[in-house]
Parts: sequence; C-alpha cells; structure tokens
Amino acid sequence: MNATPSESSVVDAVGKDLFIDGKWRPASGSKTLPVHDPSTGEVLCEVADASPADGKDALDAAVAAQASWAKHPPRERGEILRRSYELLMERNEELALLMTLEMGKPLAESRGEVAYAAEFFRWFAEEAVRIDGGYAVAPNGKGRFLVHRQPVGPSLLITPWNFPMAMGTRKIGPAVAAGCTSVIKPAAQTPLSMLALVGIMAEAGLPEGVVNVITTSNSGGVIEPLIRDGRARKLSFTGSTSVGRKLLEQCSEKVLRTSMELGGNAPFLVFDDADIDAAIEGAMLAKLRNIGEACTAANRFYVQRGIADEFARRLTERMSAQPIGRGTEEGVVIGPLIDEAAIEKVSSLVSDAVDRGAKVLTGGAGVDGPGHFYQPTVLTDVPQDSRLAHDEIFGPVAPINVFDTEDEAIAKANDTEYGLVSYLYTQDINRALRVTEALEAGMVGLNQGIVSNPAAPFGGIKHSGLGREGGTVGIDEFLETKYVAVGLS
Ligand code: NAP
Repeated sequence: MNATPSESSVVDAVGKDLFIDGKWRPASGSKTLPVHDPSTGEVLCEVADASPADGKDALDAAVAAQASWAKHPPRERGEILRRSYELLMERNEELALLMTLEMGKPLAESRGEVAYAAEFFRWFAEEAVRIDGGYAVAPNGKGRFLVHRQPVGPSLLITPWNFPMAMGTRKIGPAVAAGCTSVIKPAAQTPLSMLALVGIMAEAGLPEGVVNVITTSNSGGVIEPLIRDGRARKLSFTGSTSVGRKLLEQCSEKVLRTSMELGGNAPFLVFDDADIDAAIEGAMLAKLRNIGEACTAANRFYVQRGIADEFARRLTERMSAQPIGRGTEEGVVIGPLIDEAAIEKVSSLVSDAVDRGAKVLTGGAGVDGPGHFYQPTVLTDVPQDSRLAHDEIFGPVAPINVFDTEDEAIAKANDTEYGLVSYLYTQDINRALRVTEALEAGMVGLNQGIVSNPAAPFGGIKHSGLGREGGTVGIDEFLETKYVAVGLS
C-alpha cells in the first residue's frame, strides 16, 4: 500500500470472507451482510454472513488446534504477537483509514486506536514468557505443592463496534500468549478492522486454527450454540450489560469461564480545589474521545458549587468550538454516531432531561443532512432522577450538576448500578485518597481524563463486569491453575 492510501484501496485490501482454520472462505450459501459508512449511510462493502453451521466449523478448527497450540513454545507464541505488533504499526495509516470508514471516529483517533491495539500485542508478547508457577512445602512438612498454569482452552471472544480493533487485541493478545485457541466475532457494524487484523496475524506466522474470525448478522443464533456446545471453555465478552447478562446465563449451563467488560456510567467529580485548566482538558478527553461512544466516557459531571459556573462556561466554550464532520476530514473532532438508533437514543435522553428542568448551554440536537451527527452538547441543572444521570449516553453530551459537600459528591457518583471508571479532580492529597477509596469503580482517573493503558488492569465492578484485561493480570483470564499434591516418603 502507498503512503496516502485511498478509501477504496483500504476497503479492497481486506479479506471479506470468514477466516477459519487459516483459510478465507465464504459463508455457507455465500450469504453476505453490508457494512455502512456512518458519515454518509452508504454501503462500503459486503462481508460474509456466517450461519450457525459456519460458527460450528470455526469452533471445530479452534478445538482441533488447541492441543498443539498449548504445547507451542511460549517464546514463539510471543514472537507471533510481536511481529503482528510491528506490522500493525507499519500499516497504521491504512488501518486507521479503514477504521474511520466503518466506525466514523476522526482519523487522529483511529491512528491512536491502531497504536493502542498494537500495544496489547507488544505487552502480551512479553507476558507469554512470564507464565510462572510455584513450589511450596506443605504445612505438615511432609508433602510438597507444585502449582502450574495451563491454557483454559478454546475461547469465544466477542467484541463491540466502538473500538473495533483494540477490543479485539485486548482479548486475542492474552489468549494467544496463554496458549488458547479462539473464535472471535466482531460486531456486524465494524467487521473490517478485525478482518484486517487477522490477515496481519496470518502474515506474522499464526498457525492454522489458532484464531478464527466469523462475521454474522445473527449474533445470538450463531453464538448461543457455540456456548452450549461445551467444547469452548471460555467466553470473553465486551459489550452492553444487557447482552452480557444474557451470555452469562447461557454460560452457566456448561460452566464456562467468563470475562465480562460491560457498560459504564462514569461520574466526573471536580472539587473547588482542583486545577480547573486540567479539569477542563480532562473533561474534553473523557467526554469527547470516540465521540462519547466509549464505556469510559464521562457520563455525569458533578462540580463543587464554588467553581461550577466557571466550569460550565469554559466547558461550553470548548465543546461548542469542536468541528463536526466526516472523520476523514482534517481537524474534525466530532464524527458521526454509529447509526440512526444512536441519534434517537441520545436525543431522547436530552429531551427527558430538558423536560425535567435541565438547561441547554450548547447543542441539544442532531445535525441535518446525511450521516448520523449530533452536536456537542452541555446541559446544566440536570436532575439526578433524569435518565441522563443513569443511562449510558454514548454521545457527545455533557450533563453538569452541582454539589456542596464531599459526602454528597460520593453519594451521587455511586448512585448507579455501574462501576467501571470514575474521574476525580482535586489537588488535596487527603481528599484524593479518601474519595478514591470511596468510589465504587474498578478504575479511577485521578487528575487524568483517560485511564486506558495496555500495561494496566482494565475492568469494572458492579454491573460493569467481571475480570480484568491488560496489565500483568490480563493473561490470568486465559489460564487455569493446576495444583499437584506431591507425596514424599
Ligand atoms: P452490544 O450490543 O452488547 O454488542 C456487543 C457485541 O455482542 C457485538 O459483537 C454484538 O454483535 C454481540 N451480540 C449482541 N447480541 C448478542 C447475542 N445475543 N449473543 C452473542 N453476541 C451478541 O454492545 P455494542 O452496542 O456493540 O457496544 C457498546 C457497549 O459496549 C456499551 O455498553 C459499552 O459500554 C460497552 N463497552 C464496554 C467496554 C469495557 O471494556 N467495559 C469497552 C467497550 C464497550 P452484533 O452487534 O453484530 O449483533
């Protein structure tokens, strides 16, 4: 590919078929599904639309490859990831354009996601050779304990549309490193980044059957039989809490190991003693990264009374100045939302808040014309009982509310079923530690508007999920612990 790729060249370069047992093949009956550009609504291309029988073929391939992959030297497993990391970085520009076309985010953010996605491979390339065990003397002094770690086995991996590559490498990286084979199903709306990714892994030397990709318009119909089949031993899911709950139920029958990265409803707390410049910068990142379509997006701003007016005024100035447009255009910050249903959801959340007394400081409506655009929006006086305070917005809307005391801020922040991430701005170290400990969340951004990092344990508590991805614990999700009781005479 050349240095300035064209839109058609990056779409044409991707395999559109299913990737099963190291080979590209059409879906049974040659069925296909369309992939749309959310900035125009036009069809970019068609990809294979897998049936349940195709899904079974993918699981058969993963099961057949499992025993030999588990024995594959960890160093070589890591080197496949490392070579894939290098190819991803070399082709960042082409992959970023592809991602922007199918998902809509601005090119600069897509470049960032490709690099972030690649980093999971670099990180887990290093972790592949650090799977350790243990040796201990039993308390009675006679026996010995050997503790040893083995791959969980064939794994089902399901990813959402909002980070179409990074949510994949965050699962494939540790699965490959641990010695697990997998079947991965990306969201039907953004399959191209995953198909490009597996093509790169094949180039990097991935053996047949180790990673299999199925794209389908029938997620439930294809995945449920694979969960109930019993040969897959693990499900790792990133997506909404409602789908996650359904999958947990399905997994209970065959007692699959599960990792669940689910929805969020992040509070963003700003105390009077905060560095307000830093808080505004952090708010812009936490709110507008990925056009607000992130599980980590700041969903509710709570600002202490002394600085609330200034914070609202400055955030409004910044939000209203952000250029809206197609993600491929230079300087655009606000790309399209994923589809018309997303626009309808955001619009209804804003109307509900306004009906309950919220004031619109900027935005508050969609944008006429093709594509699914919504104006960056700031609202104040958003009542705690409005849907905006409880539902995931998944759009560029910032609801602001005022608090007086630390206890009130903590109570409001924790008033949600979710517990993925919270943001906190204060310069008082005592307050920082007190509030951090009281926040019900798996992650806290302390004077920082972004928490995602491949070297850190990402994940939520409460209805935001189970397990952690990334960091030194990320590989644990794909390992079983076996203990051997050694009798000594
Ligand atoms: P979603 O509707 O739950 O879909 C997620 C994935 O599950 C997609 O691949 C989807 O495929 C598939 N799926 C849907 N129904 C299924 C079923 N019955 N059986 C098997 N698979 C099924 O979520 P989304 O709208 O794509 O993504 C947004 C959600 O993901 C938000 O709630 C966000 O917070 C969450 N998220 C969480 C994290 C995290 O790390 N905690 C990260 C990113 C996103 P189809 O769409 O093709 O049907």
